[in-house]
Amino acid sequence: MSYSDLACYTAWSPNHYYGRAYNIRKITPHHMAGDLSIEDCGSVFASSARQASSNYGIGTDGRIACYVDESNAAWTSSSWENDNQAVTIEVANCECGGDWPVSDAAWNSLIELCVDICQRNGIDGLWYTGDASGNLTEHRMFAATACPGPYLHSLMPQLAEEVNARLGGAAPSWSVPSGGSSGYDSDGSLIVDGYWGSATTSKLQEALGTYVDGEVDDQYAGWEDDNPGLTFGWNWTWETSNGSPMVKALQEKLGVEVDGFIGPDTISALQEYLGTPVDGCISSPSLCVMELQRRLNAGTF
Ligand SMILES: [Zn+2]
Repeated sequence: MSYSDLACYTAWSPNHYYGRAYNIRKITPHHMAGDLSIEDCGSVFASSARQASSNYGIGTDGRIACYVDESNAAWTSSSWENDNQAVTIEVANCECGGDWPVSDAAWNSLIELCVDICQRNGIDGLWYTGDASGNLTEHRMFAATACPGPYLHSLMPQLAEEVNARLGGAAPSWSVPSGGSSGYDSDGSLIVDGYWGSATTSKLQEALGTYVDGEVDDQYAGWEDDNPGLTFGWNWTWETSNGSPMVKALQEKLGVEVDGFIGPDTISALQEYLGTPVDGCISSPSLCVMELQRRLNAGTF
């Protein structure tokens, strides 16, 4: 069992997948398209005839309920792929129709719940990209629906900003998911997951015009612990020689010293280039790597 301490009420729904196909790495806020209390929303999802659920619900009064334990994927977003990666949250509307607004109390609870989900699941920040490649996603990205409604939809970038500001201030200790590695989607594009493994390396090698083998050779072992988001294909050693040709090409592109070794200077320059927070380390998962993967997929790195 794993759910937020912020939930003051539980009503378990039978409508969910058993377990998850992925680690939790996304959050998907929805709107209820109605002003339901968390108890009423719980009774809707308690019915197996309904075939729908969410991990959490937030009422107009700001109270939070849990309906599906985080260890299970809920049936919320019309997407197996999304719901298996996401914690989903239904938010009540304080007015029905129009822009479908939510109350300030509900909005504040949504921010708090997102922060808590990020901290407990080792997510180092929320990123709204307007499509499913980000880790703050919306129902409307997966189905012909207005959910989460015009009001919440317009506030998605602000939600990411406020959550990230609190995460930065709280200095959470990031957990390191085991076996994190980037891979390919069914269409051959990189999965945007923030882990820099062999697949991301291969795509970057291709983009930089160096030999493509998914391996980053001869990297200084002293940097390994600071960069848990560098996963498979990184060959760490205490006795370095010439470094990696791919890292050299990357350094040349970024305009930093070309020595072939990834380190704080190169990573900071990469973060600056990609417009993500600059701290010289690759977290697990990493916003910088997510943006790298997105740009590699779009051919715009
Ligand atoms: Zn929805």
